[in-house]
Amino acid sequence: MLDNNYDFDLFVIGAGSGGVRAARLAAQAGAKVAIAEKNRIGGTCVIRGCVPKKFLSYSSKFSKHNIVAKSFGWEYKETTFSWQTLIRNKDKQIQKLSLIYQGNMEKVGIKIINLGAKIKDKNTIRLDNSKEYTAKKILIATGAKPYFPEMKGIEYGISSDDFFELKYLPKKVTIVGGGYIALEFASIISGLGSDCQIIYRGNKLLKDFDSDISQLIQTELQSNKLDIKLNSQIIEISKDNDQFKLSLDDGTSSNSDIVLFATGRVPNIGCFENQLIKTDAAGRIKVNKSFQTSIPNIYAIGDVSNNHQLTPVAIREAMIFARNEFERENQKYKIENIPTAVFCNPEIGTVGLSEKEALMKYKKIDIYTSSFRPLYYTLSDLTYRTYIKLILDNKSQKLLGFHMIGDDSAEIAQMIATMINKKITKYDLDNTIPLHPTSSEEIMTMRNKITKEL
Ligand code: NDP
Repeated sequence: MLDNNYDFDLFVIGAGSGGVRAARLAAQAGAKVAIAEKNRIGGTCVIRGCVPKKFLSYSSKFSKHNIVAKSFGWEYKETTFSWQTLIRNKDKQIQKLSLIYQGNMEKVGIKIINLGAKIKDKNTIRLDNSKEYTAKKILIATGAKPYFPEMKGIEYGISSDDFFELKYLPKKVTIVGGGYIALEFASIISGLGSDCQIIYRGNKLLKDFDSDISQLIQTELQSNKLDIKLNSQIIEISKDNDQFKLSLDDGTSSNSDIVLFATGRVPNIGCFENQLIKTDAAGRIKVNKSFQTSIPNIYAIGDVSNNHQLTPVAIREAMIFARNEFERENQKYKIENIPTAVFCNPEIGTVGLSEKEALMKYKKIDIYTSSFRPLYYTLSDLTYRTYIKLILDNKSQKLLGFHMIGDDSAEIAQMIATMINKKITKYDLDNTIPLHPTSSEEIMTMRNKITKEL
């Protein structure tokens, strides 16, 4: 396959989930591949995102499980928590994963370059040490980085990336934002026993989710002692002895040990000069359905280009890219019904259309909801409830959307995604024997219907 006019068939910039998968598949198909990464192999998801976040999230839930355990007869003399142990063990596992990624690439002969790389021209890459390579095709898979809004004292703010590296668990944390990272880290911090407040400029958290989920998660989080300030913005951060003073737009102020900005992420586009490749208004690289940028032999996948900043989407794009470009397949890029979860406490799992989206598209819909106290909590005083919402097309009875708050909702949403893709109906659910006693049996037994019409 090697075109001898070039050093490589494919040069990948960025060794995150998307870049690594594309490089491996291309190399397995016989291409000569190089990959450049200036940080550790693994990217956001493995090093400073999904995986370490899930470790912290698991850890934060033990405070709740310890209470439940007591209601089942367990007695603990003393429970203590060590942030240092958690971080040390998390780091060990992340290092292991990073080395596995590296080993898997080495096995298929990929040249791994631990340096930053810049695109010099359409076939030339220049490394940070000034060495140059040529490649027939270049793939940009450089991901995204945290965005910090402009304000006085913003240099005192940290991102979720930095939170993973803290040497101690702060006693009081303020989180700015109302999206995925804000809710997940707020639950982690309060679950680990520290005070946490969310400051969000909008009037409902998770504004793009089904509105019932947005509303209910706020109530649940507040009943878990989270302080949530909506319609509120920090205008200045200043040092106040060992803390930071946050001045808000309503004239009030509060103090915090840490201010964590969870205000979205912006694409990493430093590997090319502005005029070389076209980007959209948000700075993301514009690509066509084959992931080609404005320069046809330069491609982009993952967070640097798309709207769904999700690891599995980047991986799917990598697979389609590598198979079409190096195995001569003709896979079509069609991504819909992406299941998604917010690993807050309680957890959110969702897939398919929200009520608003379903009404817009189908005009008349049936909605089934259920709210109940899971068996697991009933022996304790904990008041956690599980909420499930199904949205169906009134005419065909096809399942369009699934939204859940409660334990295991991410796991359940994953399974429902296949059901939605397979166009199952309410009739199919009703004819499935429920598995008793579980939370997901509710999905098979929902009876309270509301029909809504546009
Ligand atoms: P999100 O886009 O989810 O949320 C960003 C939040 O920041 C929004 O509430 C937004 O408000 C607010 N915001 C944006 N700009 C400003 C500003 N200038 N001042 C004040 N507030 C602002 O991004 P996250 O940072 O939470 O996460 C980044 C991405 O990572 C997510 O989009 C998600 O795709 C991915 N992710 C996925 C996870 C998962 O799958 N479980 C977990 C973590 C991250 P507004 O709504 O008003 O615009």
